This record gives sequence, structure tokens and C-alpha cells, in this order.
Amino acid sequence: MKSHTRVAVIGGGVVGCSVLYHLTKAGWKDVVLIERDQLTSGSTWHAAGGFHTLNGDPNVAKLQGYTIGLYDELEKISGQSCGLHRSGGLLLADTPARMEWLKMAHGRARYLGLETELLTAKEAKKLLPLIEEKYFVGAMLDAADGNLDPAGTTHAYAKSARIGGADIYLQTRVTELKPRTDGTWDVITDKGNIHAEHVVNCGGLWAREIGRMVGLELPVLAMEHMYLVTDEMPEVVEFNKTHGHELPHAIDFKAEIYMRQERSGMVLGTYEKACVPWQPRTTPWNFGTELLTPDLDRIAPSLELGHKHFPAMAKAGIKRIINGPFTFSPDGNPLVGPVQGLRNFWCACAVMAGFSQGGGVGLALSQWMVNGDPGFDVWAMDIARFGEWATRSYTNEKVRENYSRRFSIRFPNEELPAARPQQTTSLYDVMIGQGAVMGDSWGLETPLWFAPKGVEPKDIVSFHRSNDFPHVKRECLGVRNGVGVTEIANFAKYEFTGSGAEAFLSRMMTNKMPRNGRIILTPMLNPDGKLIGDFTIAKAADERFLMWGSSQAQKYHMRWFERHLPTDASVAIRRFDMGLVGLSIAGPKSRDVLQRLTDEDVSKTGFKFMEHRAMDIGYVPAMINRVTYTGDLGYEIWVAPEYQRKLYMAIMEAGRDSGIVNFGMRALLSMRLEKNFPTWFRELRPIYGGFEAGLERFIDLTKNDFIGRDAAMKEKQGGGKLRRVSMVVDATDADVLGDEPIWHGGKVIGWVTSGGYAHYVDKSLAQGYVPKEVATETKKGAFEVEILGERRPATIILEPLFDPEGARMRM
Ligand SMILES: Cc1cc2nc3c(=O)[nH]c(=O)nc-3n(C[C@H](O)[C@H](O)[C@H](O)COP(=O)(O)OP(=O)(O)OC[C@H]3O[C@@H](n4cnc5c(N)ncnc54)[C@H](O)[C@@H]3O)c2cc1C
Repeated sequence: MKSHTRVAVIGGGVVGCSVLYHLTKAGWKDVVLIERDQLTSGSTWHAAGGFHTLNGDPNVAKLQGYTIGLYDELEKISGQSCGLHRSGGLLLADTPARMEWLKMAHGRARYLGLETELLTAKEAKKLLPLIEEKYFVGAMLDAADGNLDPAGTTHAYAKSARIGGADIYLQTRVTELKPRTDGTWDVITDKGNIHAEHVVNCGGLWAREIGRMVGLELPVLAMEHMYLVTDEMPEVVEFNKTHGHELPHAIDFKAEIYMRQERSGMVLGTYEKACVPWQPRTTPWNFGTELLTPDLDRIAPSLELGHKHFPAMAKAGIKRIINGPFTFSPDGNPLVGPVQGLRNFWCACAVMAGFSQGGGVGLALSQWMVNGDPGFDVWAMDIARFGEWATRSYTNEKVRENYSRRFSIRFPNEELPAARPQQTTSLYDVMIGQGAVMGDSWGLETPLWFAPKGVEPKDIVSFHRSNDFPHVKRECLGVRNGVGVTEIANFAKYEFTGSGAEAFLSRMMTNKMPRNGRIILTPMLNPDGKLIGDFTIAKAADERFLMWGSSQAQKYHMRWFERHLPTDASVAIRRFDMGLVGLSIAGPKSRDVLQRLTDEDVSKTGFKFMEHRAMDIGYVPAMINRVTYTGDLGYEIWVAPEYQRKLYMAIMEAGRDSGIVNFGMRALLSMRLEKNFPTWFRELRPIYGGFEAGLERFIDLTKNDFIGRDAAMKEKQGGGKLRRVSMVVDATDADVLGDEPIWHGGKVIGWVTSGGYAHYVDKSLAQGYVPKEVATETKKGAFEVEILGERRPATIILEPLFDPEGARMRM
């Protein structure tokens, strides 16, 4: 073994081998892979080898498309066959709701450049005669689906990596990881030690154990998974003979099964409801290439349905049943990227679909390591998306929920129940008592909407407007015509202190830092000028700044800040988390309510728009920002958690005469739409430039140098390629959800990022990106947005429909 390497990749499954190959491809040749046993000896060897592009997140779907396209390149470089069968696949819908979901997936595939086609059940049966047509209402054909040989593919990655200069050490187990003060690692193995500049955890079934070597408890859990292989089936033989090709893959969402041809029989696997975790605490190091005992009773409900839906399967003999473990994260997507709080330690774990995702994971991680940026929008698989609340028992519950719902529809207004409530504020029971329907926001229960007396506080899940519609409308009107109060504990909150705080923030952010007692809004860019943050910053005192941002991105942002912190201890960062909670009051009567709670002057001139001040509010020590996301007159009031209950009671008392209403996240998001305000992770993501996103007001190219300034200057001069636009959509009973294609002149030219019903202005609105050349084309119906398979006319609006001059915020 060498004594030193640039990168030590731990784990020789399909993911580790892909990471190794992609590192060599990106130009890092001095890289090694360390494998406990043989290549593939974790979960990889017994995989069913299927691949597909389907994913709930379009950016992950794109990376899956990359993976599937990569296999020809690997075969060419390595001379090793991947055993490819590019047979295409059918996604079978049993209900109109599932068909609507497929129509959405089909629309999204269009803008991702993936090839899909919607079919009737009859057309689907022509392609896959095993189907009993009466159980299905339609299908989607995905041309990219297929299957491969898991071992051949892993070896093709490994051989290609070796050709690129990598070394692979087999039968070598990493037993310890010791950090050096310079951020490098001593990798201790049972065959000697190696000093590595970077370590990558590709430990698959042992990812948790490798995490524990560096003090991490990764949110990953292995589940048992079964598939069976049938004997030869005459129906398959006959089809192959008459058609000259294999049967396509199939996913039967109702029965929770996937199916594909294997030789002259079929493979059938299930994601059963009665699923079982494997080794929930610790994976034994001596687990080898063994299979687990099959349990057909557990998958019997799926099999029964499968036999009805595909009658030939009921007659087929079973040749083999495979039961093997593989790993999942709480939301089913991989855990990839650098780990916040550790230097040069990277993860590529919880890859549950290694043959659909392994290539994309390897590409993104290698670019991240080599260039400092993954080069794609990888948020949906970024390890930073889980907070400290994702404990081992939380992970266990969520992974089981995710596994058992693998093929279930997740409706846009559906909140999943497992492991909730995890975090609550002191107002939780008060809010529930007032009819709140709660949602999960980065592990925290947050009111979505309030059911009035006599109405059941429950969402009816749907792709269409649902039962919350009149109640969210009432909340919006309550705010716009009077005053409303909402919980805002789910924002991220930070404090920056020290003599270097201002210079540090100024280097990170695009906008000038505020004066004492003032607030600014500011994006944050990466060196390529792409958006990696969007914050509100207040200067509370000399050398003390408070900052608010997206709760989901807290670890993502902390990781970035820590990477750039000066080493002279002149800046300290504190993440408040639930140590600072808040309530926002908004609407034209909100000032009257605030004034009743304080003896400070909060008049228009006494407490101006975008000011920040500490004051007592109804006996409670608070910090107040005169700004809200509603785009109306309003205030954010921030307090320590022990005061939040008292604050709420005081606000409700003071607001009673003004008819104060509770409002939830859905009303807040509706109100921001009619102001054309963007949201983080929808309109603002690392694939867009600040000017493309329309944030030029907050990018000051004349101030000190900041990260991304050169790229931002170029973007300003060249104008970028895209523009964020707001549109009025001629919708019927369903609004956009995000990820719908935007059509113009008979072609898909852009995509929707988010939208919904703007209740106060009574319009269906969408935001999205289109090429800048058409972004000012305001002719009525010049565009179309595809909602649930139907193209609806859409019109770009250049001004917000509510209060375009911003007079209300400043009143
Ligand atoms: C029954 C079944 C069917 C499946 N079907 C499919 C399918 O059809 N399509 C699909 O895409 N996916 C499928 N999968 C999932 C697929 O197998 C996984 O996505 C994939 O194997 C994950 O690969 P990995 O490299 O992350 O993990 P692993 O394959 O588990 O690899 C981890 C490697 O790390 C090594 N290692 C761990 N700790 C150490 C250490 N300390 N020192 C050195 N080496 C170490 C292990 O020995 C192992 O080889 C299936 C899985 C199962 C079980």
C-alpha cells in the first residue's frame, strides 16, 4: 500500500467505484479505493440491476439520466461488458390520480430532455401482453429504462478508474480515521496505514460505522428487500419469438412491484408495506456475500395483486428468491457531499438505486472535490439537508415510511406522518387548539392553515385545489384587509459577532452591509456567480449582525461559512436554531397592534421600513424587524423560546379589536406570490445567476470584492441566459405546483419553479425561468403552462399584482 494519497475512497461497491472513476476523469490520478473484501461484496452483488430516470426531484432525475447514458462510455474505456438491456419501461397507472401524476412526470420529462410517452392501457398491453388491462387506466413509457449486470458494471467502473491511474486495495478494512491538524487524515487499516488529503465514505451497508469513526451518526438505514426470479414462462418465450426483442420493464404502483424479463422468465420485486429494517443499530463487519432468509408471507399482499394484474405470473414457477439488504436515507435520496464541521471528509452514502444514481453521484462528488462545486444542483441529495433532528430512531421510522411508500403517490399537499411531531415550539398545542393543520418544516411543526370551528383540520390530498382553499383565502384577506399573526420559528437564524464580522459578511454577500439598526436583503453567490443563499441581515450593534435565511439550508450555509471563516478568530457564528423563535404580524392594522404592546414610538417615522430594534413587547424582551414576506406593512418579532407563548397571548389580546386572524405558511406563500417575491430552493437555486433571478437591486458591484463578483459582472454585461418571470395562468381547478413545462411558439422553452393561487388578487400565478429574449413578451396568452397534461394560457406580468409601488410595506 502507498503511504500517501490525495483521496482514499472507502468501499468498493458500485458507488465507490463510480466516485473513483470520476475522480480520475476529473484529473485527480493519485487516488485509491480501499475495500474490506472483494468489489461488490456489500449490497451491490445481489442487486436486481434495474435502472430508470424516475425521481421526485428533477435534478436527481437528470443525474439518473446521466448515469444511464454513461454505461456505453464505461464499456468502451474498460472493455468490460455492463450486460446492458435497454428494454424501456412502463409505469402503470391504476387510478385517474396516478395517471395525473404520470402526466406531470411526462411534462417534466419534456423539459429535462427525457423521452417519455403517455399510453392508454390498451397500448400498454400491446407492449407488455402480461398485463390484465382492466386493472389499469393508462401508462407512461420511459425509453431510458433497462437493466444491467451489477458485478460487470462495478468492474467496468473499477477498470476504467485503474486505467485512469487509480489504485484499488482489496481485502483491506479501514478500522480507524484520525484527523490531522492540517485537515488531512490518517486512514488506519488492517493492512497498514495511508495518509490521505481527503476521505470519501462509500461504505454502503457500513456507511454508519464509517461515520461513527469520525463522530457522525449518519441518517441511513438498511432495509431487507426481496425479489423473485421465475422459471421460463411460455408467454415470455412467445413474445420474444414474435417480437424479436425483450419485454419492457414495468412498475405497478398499486401492487408496489417492479418487474422485468430475466432470460426467458421474469424478475418481480416488491416494496412491501410490512417492510423490515436490517441491523438497525450496527452492521457486523463479518457480514459477507450472504443472503437473508426470504419471507414470502411479508410480500404476499403485493404478490396477490401482482398475480391478478399479470395473470401469467400466477402460473409461473419460482426459481429463486433473493432477500438482501440495502441502504436508504429518511427521504430515499442519497447523502452526498462534504460534511459540515469536518474538513476534507466526504460522503456518498444511502444510494438506494446505485445503477440509476451511481454515475451521477460520482460525477457530482468528484466535481465538488476537484472544483469546489458539484457543477449541478444537487440539493435533493446533499447530505446537508438533514439536521440534528434526524436521529437514529427518527431515521428508522422515516426510512420504513419511505420504503413502504416507494411507489405511492405523494400529493403536493400531503404531509407524511412518520416520526412526527419531532420538534415543536411552545405554541404547538395552542395552534392545534385554534384549528391549525401542521406541516413539517426541517423537523419543526409549523402551521400550514387554520380550520375554522366546525371544519375538520385535515388536508384532503389532491393535485387540484383542495379543501384548504376557502380557508387560506380567508387568512389572506384577513391580513390584507386588517391584521394577521403567524409563527416564523421555522426560519434559519444566525448571529455573527467579532471585529471581523462585518468584513466577513461583506465578502460573503453581494449587498452592502447595513448601518446600525438597519436591515438589508442580500443574495450570496458562489465563485461562478450562481445563487447559493438569500438572506435578511440586521446590524444589531457594532460587531454584531443578525441574519435570517432558509431553515432547510442551515447546514448547507454553515458549511459554506465555516469554509471561508478567517483563521484569526475575529468572527464567531452562532446558529440559533430553536434558541430564537418568532411571530410575525402583518397587514394595514399591524402597527396599531404593535403600538398597543409597547411604549416605544413605532409610528411611520419613529420605526421605519427596514429598521431593526430591540424593544419590550407586552413585557417580553424582543428584537423586531420592520419587514415581512407578505409584502405588506408588518413586523417580525423575535424572542427567546420561553417568551413565545406570552408574546402570542399578548398579540392576540392587543389585536382582538382589530379582528386579528391566525395565518399559516400557505397564506404566507400565497401573499408572496402576488408580490412576485422568489423563494429559496424554488426560484433561487445554484443553477441561476443573481441577474437571471431578477435580484440586481441587491447586488452591489461597486462595493468591496465579494465571492462571485467577477462572474456577476460578466453576467450583468452579457445578461445571462434566463430570466425569472411571473405569470398569470388561466388555470381551472388546479394551479401549478412547480416543475411544469412552459411552452412558447409550440415549443417547451422553460419551466415553472413554483406558484399557486394568489387569493387577494384572485389569480392563479406561476413563477419560472424562460430565455431572456422572451421574458418581456407580455402579450396575453403568449405562453402556455402545462398543468396535469393540459396546456393552459399564461401571460407574463412585469409588475407585482399587489401593490407594485411597495407603498404598503412603507406605509
Ligand atoms: C435485493 C436487492 C435488489 C436491488 N435491486 C436494485 C436495482 O434493481 N437497481 C438498483 O439501482 N439498485 C438495486 N439495489 C440497490 C443497490 O444494490 C445499491 O444501490 C448499491 O449496491 C449501493 O452501492 P454502494 O456502493 O453504496 O454500497 P455497497 O454495495 O454496500 O458497497 C459498500 C462497500 O464498502 C465496503 N466497506 C464498508 N466498510 C468498509 C471499511 N471499513 N473498509 C473497507 N471497505 C469497506 C463493503 O465491503 C462494500 O463492498 C438492490 C439491492 C438489493 C439488496
